[in-house]
Amino acid sequence: MAPKKPDPAAKPTDAKKAEKGKKKAEKGAKDMYKVEGAKVTRARPTCERCGTGYFMADHHDRYTCGHCGFTRYKQK
Ligand SMILES: [Zn+2]
Repeated sequence: MAPKKPDPAAKPTDAKKAEKGKKKAEKGAKDMYKVEGAKVTRARPTCERCGTGYFMADHHDRYTCGHCGFTRYKQK
């Protein structure tokens, strides 16, 4: 009776990892602003309740504030 040996070749290949060079850009504060020449505009709406400085999360149909929970639905 042969002992069961783990076969390294049997490992499923990670197809997603093979996709090199397609690194998703890290999300950060730099994505919250757009620089147009000398002007800096905010790419996300700010919370009406918390005021400027509190960005709202961009969801497919609404914006929400992670600080106070305020939700604003997008206009169609
Ligand atoms: Zn808020």
